[in-house]
Amino acid sequence: MSLIVQKFGGTSVANAERVMNVAKIVTDTYAQGNDVVVVVSAQGDFTDVLVDKQMEINPKANRREQDMLLAAGEQISIALLAMAIEKLGYHAVSLLGWQAGFETSSSHTSARIKRVDPARIREALDRRNIVVVAGFQGLSRYGDITTLGRGGSDTSAVAIAAAMHADLCQIYTDVEGVYTADPRKVENAKKLDEISYDEMLELATLGAQVLNNRSVEMAKKYNIELEVLSSLTRAKGTIVKEKSKMEKMLISGVAKDTDIARISVTGVPNTPGIAFKMFSKLSKKDINIDIILQSVGHDGKKDISFTVAKSRGQEAVDALKDYMESHGASGIQLDENVAKISIVGAGMESHAGVATKMFEALYDAQINIQMISTSEIKVSVLIDAVDADKAVKAIHAKFFD
Ligand code: ADP
Ligand code: ASP
Ligand code: MG
Repeated sequence: MSLIVQKFGGTSVANAERVMNVAKIVTDTYAQGNDVVVVVSAQGDFTDVLVDKQMEINPKANRREQDMLLAAGEQISIALLAMAIEKLGYHAVSLLGWQAGFETSSSHTSARIKRVDPARIREALDRRNIVVVAGFQGLSRYGDITTLGRGGSDTSAVAIAAAMHADLCQIYTDVEGVYTADPRKVENAKKLDEISYDEMLELATLGAQVLNNRSVEMAKKYNIELEVLSSLTRAKGTIVKEKSKMEKMLISGVAKDTDIARISVTGVPNTPGIAFKMFSKLSKKDINIDIILQSVGHDGKKDISFTVAKSRGQEAVDALKDYMESHGASGIQLDENVAKISIVGAGMESHAGVATKMFEALYDAQINIQMISTSEIKVSVLIDAVDADKAVKAIHAKFFD
């Protein structure tokens, strides 16, 4: 007998018919003689609906209350799925995050899982139940409900798989696996049979939302093999694991991130310590900086540009404005109409000319590059947001057609 963790995203449980479909998958797995723990997200875009409800009342509501609201979506889906399983003639018990033993940090709306104590899950399994757990939520040490950040139920599933030493962790979603680009945006994107943790982590961090990046980080840490597959077709999916034979591929995918803003500070003094002072102002506010570009100084002045998450853009400008101007900067601009397009591939390390090929694709499509950043297994460029989809298609065609 194996222990299998299966996670189903919002689209997979969007309505009664889909919930029954999930119940069928889960009970089929159980009927084959396995113990099954199921993790589910809120139905469809219900979490967005909850966010809208908050916005109508208080956009700046404190984060504890935001979590109390956001966690409600998953409570509905676990109960409905348990009822659907019961209807098919099996025993099921639904558990909220805290009942399933999820202890998290207290950073509301982006809490980190500290520990999963699966005692209650185990007990329910021992009584021959299929256990249905609410994803995306846990409990802080102050006894408050927390959520793990959007897309966090992938991480809930991997955390249970790690804590219970599961034999398999399947992430069911609305596409058939991990593709070379978002299959909803790029027609001839190809499904990958396998991808390594490192490449998947980069893709997820750089905007491929098919897996939450923290879930991949955790899967790598505890060496949990993941299978990403469709709840609608049940076709063979993509395996995410340590070493992948696909590593010989030059690049494994193209990703797009539009949740990004560029800040440019112009005419700052070309003297030591400026970057340090500027970025320490931001780190004090816990604002993460991504790509940084500094111009070669001339006439005693230089320009520094960098990117941050769009949601932190205005805050970053406010944190810097007075200070930079009092230190002689001539201006500070915020541009929210930018996108980061990245290619990821372990093959890059050993092949020259990969970045050039990407730049050529952008040149052919007449798309201007504003910033560039590279690492061993990725190249990212910042471009105008209106060109984002065109850029992904052009780059994808260059490498895969
Ligand atoms: P779920 O609700 O099941 O968690 P998500 O919407 O979070 O599903 O993630 C699945 C979506 O990710 C797909 O519908 C697809 O549009 C998008 N996506 C983006 N990049 C990729 C990629 N490289 N491969 C597969 N899907 C991708
Ligand atoms: N329901 C949550 C969200 O929409 C968690 C998830 O889907 O993983 O972000
Ligand atoms: Mg998701």
